[in-house]
Amino acid sequence: MPALNAVVKERLEKAVSQGLKRQLNTVSHQWLDPVLEHNGKSYLQFSSNDYLGLRTHTDVLRAAAAAIDIHGAGAGASRLVTGNHPAFAELEAALAAHKGTEAALVFGSGYLANIGTISALMGEGDLIIADKLVHACMIDGAHLSGAKLVRFAHNDMAHLESCLKQHRANYTNCLILTESVFSMDGDRAPLEAISALAHAHDSWLMVDDAHGIGFMETKGADIISGTLSKSLGSYGGYVAASNAVIDYLISHARSFIFSTGLPASAVTAAHEALIILKSEPERAMHVMELAEKLTGDLNLPKAQSPIIPVIIGDNQKALEIAERLRAEGIWIQAIRPPTVPPGTARLRITLTANHTAEQVRRLVNALQACGVK
Ligand SMILES: *Cc1c(COP(=O)(O)O)cnc(C)c1O
Repeated sequence: MPALNAVVKERLEKAVSQGLKRQLNTVSHQWLDPVLEHNGKSYLQFSSNDYLGLRTHTDVLRAAAAAIDIHGAGAGASRLVTGNHPAFAELEAALAAHKGTEAALVFGSGYLANIGTISALMGEGDLIIADKLVHACMIDGAHLSGAKLVRFAHNDMAHLESCLKQHRANYTNCLILTESVFSMDGDRAPLEAISALAHAHDSWLMVDDAHGIGFMETKGADIISGTLSKSLGSYGGYVAASNAVIDYLISHARSFIFSTGLPASAVTAAHEALIILKSEPERAMHVMELAEKLTGDLNLPKAQSPIIPVIIGDNQKALEIAERLRAEGIWIQAIRPPTVPPGTARLRITLTANHTAEQVRRLVNALQACGVK
C-alpha cells in the first residue's frame, strides 16, 4: 500500500514540523511509583492521574486478585449478554451513594461513558452548551448526537447566560456540559452558579467528575460522569443519575450495549479504592499540601487540585523543557494542541499521595533551573 503510506508519512512530517507529533514511551516497573523506569533509567514522575496512590494499594490489589479467582480474567461478553457479574451492582450502588444520586451505571471507560450518554440523550433539534475546555470525549459525544453544539468561554457565567438567552428558545432540549476539576488546568467549575443558570433556562446539567473525585464534592447535577482509572486507580467509567436516566441508558447508550463488560478485577479494584478514598482522607490532604507548596514556591496561582499547569505557550519550547527535565531524571509530559488550545502548550504537573515533600522540592529546583520561576 505505497500510496497510503506516502499519504500518512506526509501528514506526520507536517505534525513534526509543528511540534505536534506524539509518540509512545514504554515505561516499566510502575510498581515503584512515583519512580518509573524507561530504557533502563529511573525517573521521578509527575504525570500520573493516580492522585491518591490507590493503583498500587495492597487492599486494592488483593481485591482484584480475589475477583480473578472467581470470575476469570475477562467478562466474556457485553453486560447485556453474559458479562454482568455481581461486582457491577455493588460498585454502582457505592458510586450512586457517593454522588447522591438514585443510581449509577458502569461503562467500559470514561470515554465510553461520556460519548454513550450524551449521544443517547440528545439528538437533532436539541442544544448542547459546553465549556470551552471540556474533555474531548464530551465534544465527541456532542458531535455524535447530532445536536447543535455551542461553546462558552471557560468558567464564564456571563457568557454561558448569554448563550442560553440567545439559543435556548430555538431548541427542544438543552444540556450544559462542564467538568468539576478541569483536566489540563486543574481549576474548578462554579457548579452552583452553573446549576442555577441551568434551572433558570430549563436546561439539564452534566458534570464530568474524572478529576474531582476525592478532592471535591460533586453533587446537584442531573448527570455526573467519571472514570475508574484516575483517583480510583483501576480502569473503566461510570455515569450517576436518576433511576429513569440510568434505565434509559441501559437500552440506548450504544457504547454500553455494544462493548464487552469490564473484567470483575477492574470493577472490584475500583470499589475497594472508593472505600479507601473515604476511609483515608489524609491521602487527599497530603496531596493538596504538596500542591499548595509547589504553587507557592513557583509563584503560580494557588493549587485547586493535584493538577498544576505550567503554561509555556510554544509547542517546541514545551517539548524542549520536558526534554531538559528528563535529562535531570524528572518525567513530566508536555501537553500540546489539540489537547489544549493553540498557543497554550504546557507542562502538566500532577502530584499523588505517594510523592514526598523532598521529591517536590527536587521538582521545584529542576523547574527553576529551566527558567520556570
Ligand atoms: C481521562 C478523562 C476521561 C476519560 O476517561 P477514561 O476512563 O480514561 O476513558 C474523561 N473525561 C475527562 C475529563 C478525563 O480527564
